[in-house]
Amino acid sequence: MADAARALLRELRKRAPRIARTLARFVRAESPSTNKRALDRFARIVAAEWKRRGANVRIVRQSAAGDHVRVEWRAAAARDDAATSRGEATSVRGATAAIRVDVARARSDAPILVLGHLDTVYDIGTLAKNPFRVRGGRAFGPGIFDMKSGLAIALHAVDALRALKLAPRRPVVFLWTSDEEIGSRNSRAAVEREARASCAVLVLEPAAGAHGDLKTARKGVGEATLEVTGRSSHAGLAPERGVNAVLELALQIARLRRFNRPKRGVSVNADVIEGGTRPNVIPDHAKALVDLRAPNVREMRALERKLRALRPILPGAKLAVRGGFNRPPLEARMSKDLYARAARIARQMGLRIGGCAVGRGSDGNFTAAIGVPTLDGMGGVGGGAHSREEFVLLRSLPERAALLAAMFLEL
Ligand SMILES: [Zn+2]
Repeated sequence: MADAARALLRELRKRAPRIARTLARFVRAESPSTNKRALDRFARIVAAEWKRRGANVRIVRQSAAGDHVRVEWRAAAARDDAATSRGEATSVRGATAAIRVDVARARSDAPILVLGHLDTVYDIGTLAKNPFRVRGGRAFGPGIFDMKSGLAIALHAVDALRALKLAPRRPVVFLWTSDEEIGSRNSRAAVEREARASCAVLVLEPAAGAHGDLKTARKGVGEATLEVTGRSSHAGLAPERGVNAVLELALQIARLRRFNRPKRGVSVNADVIEGGTRPNVIPDHAKALVDLRAPNVREMRALERKLRALRPILPGAKLAVRGGFNRPPLEARMSKDLYARAARIARQMGLRIGGCAVGRGSDGNFTAAIGVPTLDGMGGVGGGAHSREEFVLLRSLPERAALLAAMFLEL
């Protein structure tokens, strides 16, 4: 492996200008989460790149969101044995729903799943103000770090394997989704289905920090809504007849504050509130959106229980609590083995790459929660995500592509 990893890095460094050109094309194709037309156009650009590389490409059409792209790639040398067992593989696939995840994982032909997203948080027109540009080894542009660099890295990882005639044993499935930045509501089922059939999941979200750390744990993330119904009344003439919904909500928010456990990584924060109608009127309605974070499933469940147990404080007030966690935590134990292998490969390539836990969720949270080993943060190294200063370090692109390609060989 050490020789192959080093050869991959050498090969990819030679290809650095080509990776940068792919990245520039991807950044110039704007793809905000909410613009289906733009997303579909970008999906086709990415799909065409994979078709040129002989991969099996399917556009997964969506009516309510941008189309996803599913790519299945098998190395040429591995294709021969795959062909002989294809009949068997098909029947196995038909029964997948009934097979437990660990059985699927034990299969030597279970694919490696690579996750990435096509969408960005930037509206059409951002590019005109913040164009793709290179300055001092950094490339800038909307969505360049999160995560068009990841999409470019994957293509060139495969190119390098092909050029060096290195054939991973397993097929690799790449699932490029269109709604990660807005909660993956539309793609979650597809992500989980592919993960269940796979041996491991590698997520091309950006790396953490200046050294490109891999993301070995992510908090679970959620949002709850607290909605209070009171009773309106004239604030001057008949205050005693009113039930003040704003006051009830304020008391509830003060109570929520006690659910925070900073040392354990549990946080609860009311981040949007609304309520009341006009001066002089005791308000009968108030609402809060509450951000929820938890580091593991146990803390997540405990927090959800506490939220559901909330009861009104003021006599006559009604309280409705809705929502909860929409991304379960990616616990460190789900990435431990993959991280150890990636860190060893990085050392063999002379790179120092660490691991770290982060507060934000990704699609890797879904796959880890259903029991599939998951390693996140395999994408570009840079910073400024979701801002005008978003950038990637150009030097990191060949390194990350080599790491990804070597992981395909490793698994
Ligand atoms: Zn992302």
